[in-house]
Amino acid sequence: MTEWLKTFGGGTAEGSAKMLDLLGGKGANLAEMANLGLPVPPGFTVTTELCAAYYDDDKRFPDSLSEQIEAGMQHIEAAAGAGFGDAANPLLVSVRSGSRASMPGMMDTVLNLGLNDETAAGLAASTGDARFAYDSYRRFIQMYGDVVLGVGYHEFEDLLERAKQGLGVQLDTDMSADDWQDLIGQYKAMVVARLDAPFPEDVGEQLWGAMRAVFDSWMNRRAVTYRRLYDIPESWGTAVNIQAMVFGNMGEDCATGVAFTRNPASGDKCIYGEYLINAQGEDVVAGIRTPQPLSAIGEGTGAPALEQAMPEIYAELGRVSSRLESHYRDMQDIEFTVQKGKLWMLQTRAGKRTAAAALKIAVDMVAEGVLDEATAITRIEPETLEQLLHPRLDPEAPRNVIARGLPASPGAAAGQLVFSSERAADLAARGEAVILARPETSPEDIHGMHAARAVVTSRGGMTSHAAVVARGMGRPCITGATELRIDTDGGTISAAGVTLGEGELVTVDGTRGELLAGEIPTIEPVMSGAFATFMGWADGIRGLAVRANAETPADAATARKFGAEGIGLCRTEHMFFDSTRIVTMREMIVAKDSDGQRAALAKLLPMQRQDFVELFRIMAGLPVTIRLLDPPLHEFLPHGEAEMREVAEATGLPVEEVGARVAQLHENNPMLGHRGCRLGISYPEIYEMQVRAIFEAAIDVGESDGSAANAALEIMIPLVMGAPELRILKDLVDGVAADINKARGAVPAYIVGTMIELPCAALRAGDIAELAGFFSFGTNDLTQTALGISRDDSASFMDSYVRHGIFAEDPFASLDREGVGELIETACQRGRAARPGLKLGVCGEHGGDPASIHFFQNCGLDYVSCSPYRVPIARLAAAQAELKRRRGPIAGAAAEKNRQGV
Ligand code: ADP
Ligand code: MG
Ligand code: MG
Repeated sequence: MTEWLKTFGGGTAEGSAKMLDLLGGKGANLAEMANLGLPVPPGFTVTTELCAAYYDDDKRFPDSLSEQIEAGMQHIEAAAGAGFGDAANPLLVSVRSGSRASMPGMMDTVLNLGLNDETAAGLAASTGDARFAYDSYRRFIQMYGDVVLGVGYHEFEDLLERAKQGLGVQLDTDMSADDWQDLIGQYKAMVVARLDAPFPEDVGEQLWGAMRAVFDSWMNRRAVTYRRLYDIPESWGTAVNIQAMVFGNMGEDCATGVAFTRNPASGDKCIYGEYLINAQGEDVVAGIRTPQPLSAIGEGTGAPALEQAMPEIYAELGRVSSRLESHYRDMQDIEFTVQKGKLWMLQTRAGKRTAAAALKIAVDMVAEGVLDEATAITRIEPETLEQLLHPRLDPEAPRNVIARGLPASPGAAAGQLVFSSERAADLAARGEAVILARPETSPEDIHGMHAARAVVTSRGGMTSHAAVVARGMGRPCITGATELRIDTDGGTISAAGVTLGEGELVTVDGTRGELLAGEIPTIEPVMSGAFATFMGWADGIRGLAVRANAETPADAATARKFGAEGIGLCRTEHMFFDSTRIVTMREMIVAKDSDGQRAALAKLLPMQRQDFVELFRIMAGLPVTIRLLDPPLHEFLPHGEAEMREVAEATGLPVEEVGARVAQLHENNPMLGHRGCRLGISYPEIYEMQVRAIFEAAIDVGESDGSAANAALEIMIPLVMGAPELRILKDLVDGVAADINKARGAVPAYIVGTMIELPCAALRAGDIAELAGFFSFGTNDLTQTALGISRDDSASFMDSYVRHGIFAEDPFASLDREGVGELIETACQRGRAARPGLKLGVCGEHGGDPASIHFFQNCGLDYVSCSPYRVPIARLAAAQAELKRRRGPIAGAAAEKNRQGV
């Protein structure tokens, strides 16, 4: 026969923390605490299996259940020394829901179950405290009426308020036994009026009613929505905990409270929490009375702390906390009640904490000998580090939200609203803080985005141009703020009845995806000692190197500050979008012949060389991978009258001819058009200029700064399909190198390699590797070309694809393992078969995604490259991937399961 429940209490338990799936978090940890010999009121947990059986059988309980429940109640009665429904010495219980994952959408707990007119009188007599007995009774009717019978909580509260007003009392604790009895009469009358049925006096009916309500709440709207948002499977079900009541509301030597074993905001080691004297359960969080702090240190609300009011209880709480911490080897969040000077434990779970606290706790616990370094490394979710790297909004400050969108790039910044990149650059040059608002952005907005403190767009998704570029630059960004109307011509934004114009102050909260009116004060990040220590451990463990995608000196400096070991992708096109250079670039494109092109390129050469000089200086000898020009020609073309005229003036060509040339270069599908190495092949002059600039810069820097000359330059050719393109372009690079060698007497060490970002290139990797010194997987384009999904247009259907389970996650955010992943594995194998030791890396957005990093580690890649602000995340994720590899797949899964789930 199936066992539907497990008992606990009285120094032992049938369950344990290992039975998380079966007992839910609350039940598993109550059992674990009982096993540890901690004071836990006796009880039993009805398993999640029963929840499944209940739903499988059309919401009927199995026949075998009632006998088992009876036995469970007998266990509690024996341990507590009271009888359920016994008028002389009544046992009261709480009925508490609890699933595997903590779920706020579920049924609220019912306390004091087992009271009726008879047992309430018995409780009054046996405790000699009628006030307490009737206070408990009215609480029970109120909770049961609300959560089980569905009578609104406020209806009870209204009656209570009116009673207090009539009596002229302020606090619940000022109500007498008679006052409570009057109110109980009113409560019951109200239940009859609402339900046409009396409040159940039968304690058995109360128990089954509450149990059924817990299981039913598994399918209520709140719970279903919550599960969908947090990916909690419906099949998990909930458990129900039935437990003898202990009373914090029996007088001045009673209390109830919540405690963290360490400060959840700072991580400091101290008992942190709140309590109330003479109160029950939810009173602490309900805000009826203001709770008092547990520890006297640093609190100072005036009210006595538990430390002073009940020093012995405080000391015992300290001992229990250390016991729980050393047992669970993690910071705990606990619930306790004090009944007549005795401490009872009612719940424990891993405490939620800020990223800063998580780091400090992990580092402290290693110093205390509770954790080893490797375990500490597994305790921090890599993504949470991001909270520590960007300025944060002062959490205490009031917020006036204008519009919400996607949290595309975290962090926060305030400034004046502007509506064009030109304006952003102008104002920023004068030292103003600006926020750029655009319907969407394009490569021509790079300088404006760079000049702005933050960016907000009304269109686009998490991988739109604005999102990707902002993350790369570490600019907070909100995309897809669809409620926001951005009128760039009129220079206004409007939403929710508010209209703001240029120059008005706004704050972007990229972490939450909220645009706020006014300037909200921010707090600068501190790279605390714990951060450095922790990241040092991660670096000691990981096998993958971590580089950054960076092209500007500012990005490169940030990348180094965050621990990047080189640049894995230096895009060179951003260097051309600067407003002075773009005209020269356009001259080059519309030039009639090779001579015209060379003249224009000659003007660009010194500028490009200077870009590299700065970059090499900052990187001081670390490897730098430079990608030659990649984007579609079309992105450089002049658009509109004014730009055409500008180019006409610069080139001396008639405007019509410029227009005709632009029309001639028009492409229907530029992302699959004239771009990448195709540009290098049709306009070799461009690549020649770039390669020359790279070599000359390296020589210049090497002459002035020896260390910078140590590393080999990695020159990267984008968008190759196979070996033939690479053959031509490698010859071009070698040719320039020979020229330089002739002119300057030396040439810096260099390697020519390729991006692998077309399926065809992945398949032909063997041939390509004969020529290429390295591969760098451009996973953005590889995902785009392998799936045939345009990254810029996927936002409109990606949500429904994820909802249908076609993708587990947006494949532009987390690598598609089955399809794109197989291409990468194939390319790695074929590449290394042709050239053993071939250097392999990845430079797409996925290089900073922890789940993708695990995959890259398994492929045998040498490094990942990601945006500077994700470098610490990648360092930690790489360390975790290495630890997982060492543990092996099976041990890893088991360790995962043993972690507390609540
Ligand atoms: P939640 O999951 O919402 O925290 P709980 O089941 O933990 O709900 O209970 C709500 C409150 O009631 C908590 O303060 C808890 O400590 C208290 N409580 C629950 N069971 C008992 C009990 N048997 N005796 C005394 N207080 C209890
Ligand atoms: Mg609780
Ligand atoms: Mg690409």
